[in-house]
Amino acid sequence: MPPLVDLHEDISLYYVTQGAGLRFGVADFGIDLEGRHCDIPKYERSNTRLVFAAIAPLTPTISPKRVERLTSLYGAPFGGYRVRAPLSAALEHITVYRNLFRMHGDRLFPVRTLWDLERVERGQGIGLLLALEGAEPLEDVEDLELLYDLGLRSLQLTWNFDNRYGASCMSRKDYGLTGDGEELIALCNRLGVIVDLAHASKRTTLEVIEASRLPVIVSHANFRTVRDHPRNVDDEQLEALNRNRGVVGVTFIPPTISDHPSVEALADHIVYACERFGPQLVAIGTDYFGLLNMVEPRGLEEVSRIGNLWRELERRGLGEREIRMIAYENAMRVIRENAARWRLSSLAST
Ligand SMILES: [Zn+2]
Repeated sequence: MPPLVDLHEDISLYYVTQGAGLRFGVADFGIDLEGRHCDIPKYERSNTRLVFAAIAPLTPTISPKRVERLTSLYGAPFGGYRVRAPLSAALEHITVYRNLFRMHGDRLFPVRTLWDLERVERGQGIGLLLALEGAEPLEDVEDLELLYDLGLRSLQLTWNFDNRYGASCMSRKDYGLTGDGEELIALCNRLGVIVDLAHASKRTTLEVIEASRLPVIVSHANFRTVRDHPRNVDDEQLEALNRNRGVVGVTFIPPTISDHPSVEALADHIVYACERFGPQLVAIGTDYFGLLNMVEPRGLEEVSRIGNLWRELERRGLGEREIRMIAYENAMRVIRENAARWRLSSLAST
C-alpha cells in the first residue's frame, strides 16, 4: 500500500456541526467507528501520512435560495450554508484541531515546520496540515500572518461564494482575481502558504497561476472533459497548472465523478489526466466529510478501501511508480517547494 496524502478533509466541520448530513454519529476520532469515512484507525490502515485539515468557516442556516443553489450543484439535499462572522468560526475550527492534537498527540500531529514534514516521511503518526477553505476570515490581507502563526499552511481562495479576493466556481460574474487577491497570493508565496484553487472560477484559477511564483494545488476537483460539472477543471486550467508544476487532488464527491460514481469511474478521471497531461499532475483530495447527504462512490465507501483505487489503476496499466506519485509524491513535491519558506513565525519570513 503506497503512503497517502489527502489534500482535503473537513474533519473540524464534522465536529463543529455534530455530524450533520453524515450517516454516522459523532464519536471520538481515535475509535474505528463503523461506517465513518475516516478516523485514526482507518487512516492507519490506509497508510495515510498527511491530511489537509480543512477549516470551512460556514454557518448552517435556513435559506431557500442558498439551498436551491447548493442542491443543484451537489445533486443532493444540501443545507443552506452561509458565511457569518467567519473569523470567529475559523477560530473554533482551529480549536477543534488543537483539541484533537491534545487528545491524540501520540498519533496525530500538526504539520507546520520542515521537521514535521520529515516526520510525515518517516510515517510516525498522521500529520494534519491546517488549510483554510475560503478566504473570508481574512478581513485584511495581513490577517494571513495571524492565522499562519496559529499554524495555517494552506489557503483556498474561495468556497462556493464570491469574496473580495476572487470569484468562485458559482460566480454569476467571473471577475477573476482582485487587487487584494493578488496581494494575498504574494503574501502566501512569501510565507510558503500553499495556494489552493479548488472552488475557484476559471478566470480566478488562470490569474492566480499567472501571479504565483510557487506551485499551487486544486485540492479537491475532477476533470471537465470526463464530467462536465462546475466544480471540475477544464483542459486549459490543467495546462496552466502543469506549467506551474501544481497538482489536482481527484475527489470522491459523487456528482463531480459521474452519474454512477464508483472506483472505476474515478479511475476514468485519473487515466484521462495521466494520458493527456502526465501522472505528475494528479494527487488525491477525498473530501469524505464533505459528502453531505450523498452516497459514496461504490468501492470507496471509506478511506480504508483506498486499496481498491490502487488495484483499479494497476488494472488500467499504471505502474507502481505512477501510483505512488499520485498517492503521495506529487503532493509532497508541491508541499516541499512551498515549505522551503516555512518559518516558526511569520515575523521571521522575508
Ligand atoms: Zn470543498
